Amino acid sequence: STATNSPIPESLQPFLRSPKKMLIGGNWVEAKSGKQFDVYDPATDQVIAQVAEGEAADVELAVAAARHAFDRGPWSKMGGAERARLIWRIGELIDEHADELAQLETLDNGKPFAVAKAADVALAAEMFRYMAGWATKIEGNTIPIRLPFAPDAEFHAFTLKEPVGVVGQIIPWNFPLLMAAWKLAPALTTGCTVILKPAEQTPLSALRLGELIQQAGIPDGVVNIVTGFGETAGAAIASHEQIDKVAFTGSTEVGKLIINAATGNLKRVSLELGGKSPNVIYDDADLDAAIAGAADAIFFNQGEVCSAGSRLFVQQGVYEQVVAGVSEIAKSLQVGSGFDAATQMGPLVSREQFNRVTGYLKAGVDQGAEASAGGSALDRPGYFVQPTVLKHATEEMSVVREEIFGPVVAAMPFSDDAELVRKANNTAYGLAAGVWTRDISKAHRFAKSVKAGSVWINCYSVFDAALPFGGYKQSGWGREMGHAVLENYLQTKSVCVSL
Ligand code: ADP
Repeated sequence: STATNSPIPESLQPFLRSPKKMLIGGNWVEAKSGKQFDVYDPATDQVIAQVAEGEAADVELAVAAARHAFDRGPWSKMGGAERARLIWRIGELIDEHADELAQLETLDNGKPFAVAKAADVALAAEMFRYMAGWATKIEGNTIPIRLPFAPDAEFHAFTLKEPVGVVGQIIPWNFPLLMAAWKLAPALTTGCTVILKPAEQTPLSALRLGELIQQAGIPDGVVNIVTGFGETAGAAIASHEQIDKVAFTGSTEVGKLIINAATGNLKRVSLELGGKSPNVIYDDADLDAAIAGAADAIFFNQGEVCSAGSRLFVQQGVYEQVVAGVSEIAKSLQVGSGFDAATQMGPLVSREQFNRVTGYLKAGVDQGAEASAGGSALDRPGYFVQPTVLKHATEEMSVVREEIFGPVVAAMPFSDDAELVRKANNTAYGLAAGVWTRDISKAHRFAKSVKAGSVWINCYSVFDAALPFGGYKQSGWGREMGHAVLENYLQTKSVCVSL
């Protein structure tokens, strides 16, 4: 069913009408070329803003600003407590502007306003606050050492933790503000300086965040924001010789390009890439909870979630019942403008993404799957597709092997644990997994045998700033969030003193 379209909130107009420039060295600047690109409202296919189109020349300026702020500026030399206060303040300012940021997110990405506010904005604020706490807790170790050939020689040895330096951060369009927060917060906590490139589809909330970061009192040049396309601005960041580390979230395909581009100066690379995550329902599960959870695992955020439960494995005896239950939820979801309070699922982010997802819907049916819910686009302006459940899916199908990044789940039966584990791990990806059962041993056995960076037992898509997140296999390198992320942004220096 579809909800009606709603207009852009009046309160956003002043921000949208002001020229959308880039933040470099504390100034808001046009692209050197003077070029701009259009940003679309995915619910209406209308242009909502024009944004500076940064390219290599603009990245050059941003790197110079970030280098200066790191090498000479106050940031990397500031005490942790001072940094903590400023980072905490960013979190507070996000909360103070929660409605406005959530509206921008809905307008630019399409997601329902209530989701943007309760998930994206709230988690972004928490991420800054959680990381603020670590700024005062970054410390090395004292390490006893002894030389076998000079046992009487005495040493005092210890490690220092130092910021890695200037960091390029390239983020996707599915959680624009939250991905900016996941990236910026640990970089700031550790004393790094940043060039952030938001996705070209969704640059608006990052630009507003840039204003809040200035308001919080972060020194000029510490956070630079370059808007533009991946092949130009993004590639210039990935290959830049004066950038010490690149952090990327996006497709596995582009992640491999980033690795290649980074080899010039061997900059450090952390990657959070695609997924094709298995969500498993055993026949002894609380089926009502499991069915609702399976629907949420794939339809949350229009399925544009790297860790979405896109392969649903259901134990034979309850397969038909579960597929029928998930399909019923899919059919009942209100699809429409994210500004309509009744909307449960918004449009996909872009025309390109719409074409990609509808292509997979066709391929799935052509290859022999059957849509027991959805299966096509909505006949209205904007990039809307139906929440879709594909049954009779098999492991060879592209809809089972490849990341769709849309509201499409492929359901498959399994009979026993051995078959399940083989099938669940039969993927190039390894980002997340879910399992629903009342048998705690079964759940833990699955958690140990699945090759995935996150496992949710009797829940799905639970995120917290304190809980590490990241991929096995081709889902990435390194972890985000928790104290695990700090390692991405720190160098360890060993110091040895002869006594
Ligand atoms: P999607 O295909 O879902 O849009 P991408 O992985 O292409 O996801 O995009 C994620 C981010 O990577 C965006 O900010 C995009 O601009 C950027 N990007 C795309 N291609 C490149 C590239 N060749 N080098 C660096 N960044 C890129």
